[in-house]
Amino acid sequence: MLNIQLSERLHKVASFVREGAIVADIGSDHAYLPVYLVQQGKVEKAIAGEVVVGPFESAVKNVKRHGLTSSITVRLASGLAAIEESDGVDTVTIAGMGGSLIASILEEGKHSLGKVRRIITQPNIHAQAIREWATINGWMLSNEHILKEDGKIYEILVLERGQVVYDERALLLGPILMKEKSPIFLEKWTNECAQLKDVLRSIEEAIETAEIIKKKEQLMRRIRIVGEVLKL
Ligand code: SAM
Repeated sequence: MLNIQLSERLHKVASFVREGAIVADIGSDHAYLPVYLVQQGKVEKAIAGEVVVGPFESAVKNVKRHGLTSSITVRLASGLAAIEESDGVDTVTIAGMGGSLIASILEEGKHSLGKVRRIITQPNIHAQAIREWATINGWMLSNEHILKEDGKIYEILVLERGQVVYDERALLLGPILMKEKSPIFLEKWTNECAQLKDVLRSIEEAIETAEIIKKKEQLMRRIRIVGEVLKL
């Protein structure tokens, strides 16, 4: 059977999985990530969790097609309910969803994270929600990465156990990404800053309700933070 080819985005997620890890890939869709990890010999055992029947069936088919049913267990379950204690999962991957959904999956299933030492997330938007969840729940960012593929910018956040207090800037921009200031990071936040300014302009004329005042303050604060980091 042919070796699976991953997108650059999922390939980078896979690169953060340690050799010999026991992985649960949540929201696995076609189970591409677990199939790749087992094919590469990086992991021997993985769980693919999927909440929607269609993608769950695709995952089951794909795992069978690659002859990996003895290494990869596919479970129809919401979030971390796909993990069973006896699996011994030490690494969770959650990729290709919004940051708020990823944070809510982690929050709802945090009782299943007992043996987990590393959580690798790839939020499509709103990475801040994951950083906030991490800070509140005794996890820290051990690595962050930003990449662009097919015109879209993606962030990858790696969490490990540890207590670090991040300030507002670090929560918004990423403690590691904002230090590195890669060209893709600068592109992302230059665009986001322009969008924030557009939104601010669009509500400038609105009647000043308490809600509008709060929204304006929040936008101005974010624009200031991004401006300071980017030195705009
Ligand atoms: N992880 C793959 C990737 O990054 O390419 C697939 C991403 S796909 C866009 C998101 C998948 O997450 C969908 O198949 C969706 O059904 C699944 N999903 C959404 N919420 C979920 C949940 N609470 N538990 C498990 N899977 C979920």
